[in-house]
Amino acid sequence: MKIRSVLPAILLLAFSGAAYTQAPALLEPDDRYKADLVLIVAHPDDDVVIGGYLARAILDEHRRVAVIYCTNGDGGGNAVGNEAGASLGQMREIEARRSWAAWGVHSVWFLGGHDTPGQNVLRSLDNWNHGRALDEVVRLVRITRPEVILTWLPDPVVGENHDDHQASAVLAVEAFDAAGDPTVFPEQISPPRDRVGMANLTEGLLPWQTKKLYFMTDAFEDWGPYWHDPATLSPFRKTIVDHTGPVYETSTISPSQHKSYAELTAEQQAFYLTQEGDIGVKALASRDFAGFEYHAHLILGKSLVGGSVTGDVFENIAPGKIPFARVRGYEPAAVTGFTFEIGDPWRFYSLFWKAHNLDTLANLIPVPEATPDEHGRLTLDFLACNHGTANAEIAIAPNLPPGWMVQPGAMSYPVRAGECYPVQSQITVPHAEKAHWEQLTWTATSDSRQAGSVTVRVFVGKNGGLPQ
Ligand SMILES: [Zn+2]
Repeated sequence: MKIRSVLPAILLLAFSGAAYTQAPALLEPDDRYKADLVLIVAHPDDDVVIGGYLARAILDEHRRVAVIYCTNGDGGGNAVGNEAGASLGQMREIEARRSWAAWGVHSVWFLGGHDTPGQNVLRSLDNWNHGRALDEVVRLVRITRPEVILTWLPDPVVGENHDDHQASAVLAVEAFDAAGDPTVFPEQISPPRDRVGMANLTEGLLPWQTKKLYFMTDAFEDWGPYWHDPATLSPFRKTIVDHTGPVYETSTISPSQHKSYAELTAEQQAFYLTQEGDIGVKALASRDFAGFEYHAHLILGKSLVGGSVTGDVFENIAPGKIPFARVRGYEPAAVTGFTFEIGDPWRFYSLFWKAHNLDTLANLIPVPEATPDEHGRLTLDFLACNHGTANAEIAIAPNLPPGWMVQPGAMSYPVRAGECYPVQSQITVPHAEKAHWEQLTWTATSDSRQAGSVTVRVFVGKNGGLPQ
């Protein structure tokens, strides 16, 4: 018999089914780590600002919550002991774990970032080793497979401008958009060769596309006594959170715990004794929870499953996977002539929001805002760009309120063709009797033609600025 005539018979036998051996079922991802919501924040105690919502979600709605802290809070002062620096960080990690354990939450992760107080998000990202931190956050999103990610607001807002908070938000946004992409950190999702052996070089996770992204801020009107200017007893900024997302009452009673969400938040706060835990301790002792009855405001960043802006966080969310949603990414703008714009961090954000389909954030605070430090000093950066083909001079003139000082004053800058000149302004704000806002403008011209202008709103507190 010729081999050609035998082949079809062999193939028929091979594909007939009866000769197959059944492979074992695939293992499911470990369900103990599955989360409905992952909170991504910078420091132990950041969770308290949204505690009223978290208590409701965890204790009454039985949502599985996991938490990622980008630092263990190794900066700042210690309200109850001498331990500082790395020692303080170790203690704060346990304070946070105890706080979450009281609500039955055990998936609490700490990344290796250090506390970096300041106002420039890029400084925190640099200090945390941005790439390594993102690797870790994407891994944890793939492990926890959340329906929702909740994080700080990635936007410089007066009253909530901690660069670490914003850095945790930048990582959360990037991880939301990257965890479902198999080309991002592919070593995390490559199947292990020898699952029960020792020589696995890859991690065996699956890509995961989270469905909704929410932000939180404490720059709103009824956030306790912290962000009110004592000179005027009025909030120093108009609220930015109205109609941007769901709002949860915290004076209402938890059906399962028979106490208010404000009281539950006070209990959470009381664990953080090295920070402002005494506020919670005193509230619990006096049974006065007024300081915790601020609303829990969330800002909808984006939803891939529809639903309304102000509807419940879990509105429209059904169990299971959704397809990877590609975001716009960076697209260079087509520009000619000269441009003059504010520098980082605002410039970074204007590119970041677009790249990550967060267009709503571009309109949240249309005019950049800032506040000086407690010494009345403020540094602002600008970029003067020449998009033409010939070298040029760009002249920049500041326009500040009377009594304000700025270095440098009016100055002309040589800007080569195709380059941008980074310009920095050092501003000194005079003492103010009353908290107020001022508007500052810088105008750029080249050959007497307008090349652009930048306006910044500056909040001046009674002592020049706000506590950082
Ligand atoms: Zn914080």
